[in-house]
Amino acid sequence: MKTIGLIGGMSWESTVTYYEILNRETAAKLGGFHSSKILMYNVDFAELEHNMSEGNWTANAVILADAAKRLEKAGADFIVIATNTMHKLVPDIEREIGIPILHIADATASAIKRDGRRKVGLLGTKFTMTQDFIKDRLKDAGLEVIIPDEQDIELVNDVIFNELCLGKVLDASRAEYQRIISYMKDRGAEGVILGCTEIGMLIGEKDSVLPSYDTTIIHAKTAGEKALN
Ligand code: GLU
Repeated sequence: MKTIGLIGGMSWESTVTYYEILNRETAAKLGGFHSSKILMYNVDFAELEHNMSEGNWTANAVILADAAKRLEKAGADFIVIATNTMHKLVPDIEREIGIPILHIADATASAIKRDGRRKVGLLGTKFTMTQDFIKDRLKDAGLEVIIPDEQDIELVNDVIFNELCLGKVLDASRAEYQRIISYMKDRGAEGVILGCTEIGMLIGEKDSVLPSYDTTIIHAKTAGEKALN
């Protein structure tokens, strides 16, 4: 079994889910007392959130590359970054290490294509929805990606940072996300990517008029499979 180098804490609310899925998947595949071999570096999200809000991505690249290097040195075989947004910094982190990073967008694109779907909506932080680091990867895999309107981008982003990352799950916000997903369906989306690792706390399969692709579940399951191959 390979050792997973998990960079967590962004936020820790969703890292809990990664930890649980990895161990459950391993137990389900191997049976008995089996569990995952995981090395975890949990960052202080306050530092990263502060740097993001200041636009200081270089500072975040330094923190995450340092975390990845420590995990490599400790014996990790590959790196899992437990957030979509910080995948913006994958090239900076990759330069510093000799082990691969399992990219969240690649895992998600494979799951969508396995289901034969092509046009998908993307929900996430405003960085994830408006910048190219996730979208380009999905497009390169042959998918068409649509994002919410400008006002709704702010709403989706505010719910992530002001509620979900602080552990708050509000019915009113769920209703807003449901409205936005319905609108994406009207625009031709065949599925919706929950492209922020906390959205699964708010939107489950039963809450969405579109088939949903929860990046936390997909990424964690893919990491579990990779560790056993
Ligand atoms: N966990 C979130 C994501 O998947 C947002 C927090 C962050 O900025 O890392 O994008």
